[in-house]
Amino acid sequence: MPSVDHVAGSERGQLEPGIPRLDEATHSVKGIVSTPRGPWAVCSHDLAGEASIAWSTPCERRDDLERLPAVDPERSADSAVRRARITLRRYATSLQIDRLGTATFRCRRCNLPTGCICDEGPDRPKWDEREYVLACIEAFRRRMRAVFGEAVALAVVIEHHADDTLHVHFGFGHFLDKRKVAACWEHGFVDLRRIESKDGRHMGKRERARRCAAYLTKYVTKEHHRPGVKSYSTTRGLVPAPRRERFMTRNEAVLWLCRENGGLWESEWHSESMETWDAPPVWLLFWGDS
Ligand SMILES: [Zn+2]
Repeated sequence: MPSVDHVAGSERGQLEPGIPRLDEATHSVKGIVSTPRGPWAVCSHDLAGEASIAWSTPCERRDDLERLPAVDPERSADSAVRRARITLRRYATSLQIDRLGTATFRCRRCNLPTGCICDEGPDRPKWDEREYVLACIEAFRRRMRAVFGEAVALAVVIEHHADDTLHVHFGFGHFLDKRKVAACWEHGFVDLRRIESKDGRHMGKRERARRCAAYLTKYVTKEHHRPGVKSYSTTRGLVPAPRRERFMTRNEAVLWLCRENGGLWESEWHSESMETWDAPPVWLLFWGDS
């Protein structure tokens, strides 16, 4: 079952019988206009190539993510994690983040670049020192900004290892000199790599970015969730707000989106696929690399 926080794997298709194919409907697409009174709300994240369609009353200005149902505390944590994953995915895809970095912590006692010679074992930050790790990440961000400039988009998550130590993973969107990045991270090793397909197949920027986002969102878990505290961090002010439009019918909403995205969507997700969904239905549509 495709999940809302990962790109749906279903085939490009029709939302429901009766929605005309774009090529059959091009003559009518030109005439489609949004209307403030329309009950079908579209939220289009243009750079990310994804959009939501939901039924709502015209006075509602809720974000599509806020529709994710949250009833009891357990479910509320689920929804918060889901929202965080979706936001992180949209951020990474919008900014074409297709490279991953991993930063580790060396032993703080012996401070050796490799391994550790302490009798009592390595002293690395543990789960209960997450505040310290967050401070390390903030300092890393500041140094990265000083070295590479304001526009370096970073999406940072923390991985909690089975042995209770923490790793930091970060996504970024273009080549960075590894030595310079390593100098910005003062606590251990840094490894950088670009997302590539396993079979050498060509991947477009958007596909790479979605793959990268799937890797990063793996570490956004309920365990990391604390009410009011983000389990990931991004560089602010780089992704424009989504476009919001309203339409009288869902078909018009779909056709308008196809026109804006230059063709049919590649995959989709529907709230019907979630048994626990108890809010008005939401569709997510995803466009691939054109
Ligand atoms: Zn040591």
